[in-house]
Amino acid sequence: MLSIQSRCWLCRQSLRLYGQGICSYCLRHMPAKPLCCPRCGLPAGDARLPCGRCLQQPPPWQALVFVNDYAAPLRQLIKKFKFQHTPELAPLLARLILLNWQQAHREQYLNRPDIILAVPLQAKRCWRRGYNQSDLLARPLAHWLGCDYRPAALSRVRKTAPQQRLSARARRRNLRGAFRCHEAMAGRHVALLDDVVTTGSTVMEIAKLLQQQGAASIQIWCVCRTL
Ligand SMILES: [Zn+2]
Ligand SMILES: [Zn+2]
Repeated sequence: MLSIQSRCWLCRQSLRLYGQGICSYCLRHMPAKPLCCPRCGLPAGDARLPCGRCLQQPPPWQALVFVNDYAAPLRQLIKKFKFQHTPELAPLLARLILLNWQQAHREQYLNRPDIILAVPLQAKRCWRRGYNQSDLLARPLAHWLGCDYRPAALSRVRKTAPQQRLSARARRRNLRGAFRCHEAMAGRHVALLDDVVTTGSTVMEIAKLLQQQGAASIQIWCVCRTL
């Protein structure tokens, strides 16, 4: 019998290349990504230049790399990955991030980071789920790109209320001072991994912290950016 990873996660056809996670047909037929600002990831008229919002108020990172909007079929894959105990989806989702990073690397000369960090989960949530989804995405990416990966570099120092029901302003307030960085970041080129970036308040809070520690550049990598 074929093991689950030898079938396409979307159409269930058996895969010729074991471990790819998704067949070439489904990959080609993924919904097209709209033109988005390379810096904040929000819809924009040009995918190569920062949008007007970013020129006026630049976010504390240089680039945001993501696969697509939080919509089908990625939305279902992420839900399965996070809430239905399917850590086996990590290599596929990480590979999709890799393809998007490679494109930005080729077309926009985006630099290769030298260290990858994952957004930490609250200990209790991580314990309940059995894994931190961002950690599982960071590991294969660090391996493929030859970057350093420090799973313990970031931690949450206090409990925060679930973000979902809060307004953007309340989310920022909720997260202020919630993270600590335990590694020297001075001069380092960092990629920060999250599964889904919604308002951006979590990655914003951590990126500011990394900036304060002297990181040379910061990229945000995620599977989905809510558009
Ligand atoms: Zn398929
Ligand atoms: Zn922008």
